[in-house]
Amino acid sequence: MKFCPECRSELTPRVIEGRTKVACPSCDFVVWGNPVPVAGVIVEYDGGIVLVKPRAKPTIWALPAGYVEDGENAEQAAVREVKEETNLDVVVGKVVGTYSIRRPSKALIYIAMSAKAIGGVLKAGDDAKEASIFSISDAVEKLRGTTAGKALGSYLAYESPMQETI
Ligand SMILES: [Zn+2]
Repeated sequence: MKFCPECRSELTPRVIEGRTKVACPSCDFVVWGNPVPVAGVIVEYDGGIVLVKPRAKPTIWALPAGYVEDGENAEQAAVREVKEETNLDVVVGKVVGTYSIRRPSKALIYIAMSAKAIGGVLKAGDDAKEASIFSISDAVEKLRGTTAGKALGSYLAYESPMQETI
């Protein structure tokens, strides 16, 4: 961002509380660079965990995930992203954990949630190149070393997935 979206002045560096931010010299606009929330979803389906190859990064398997959009809460984003990427309808269970991710371009907060499929037929949607069901051990292997893998690890540590609850 080069110009202030409020008053169109050219943005300049400004030190605020010891950190250098890009800010407007004419008004109080500051590019804070706050972390952006991402919803990631652990979907139990047909005895396994649903993973996708995201269209943006089609060489890896990942949990269905995406940015929380304006006007949504994290749960709504989770339901929407799963539908867009896998065609499944889900109900969100609970938050498994939140994870900070620092990318060169921006900081993210990955909000991992569990969900159960309640309808729809699994197929890769617009935002995914592939969508498939993996056994728990295969899913753990595919996600090893990633934030999604950490989330799945803590989900497995605290849940007893695949067991029917009465
Ligand atoms: Zn301004």
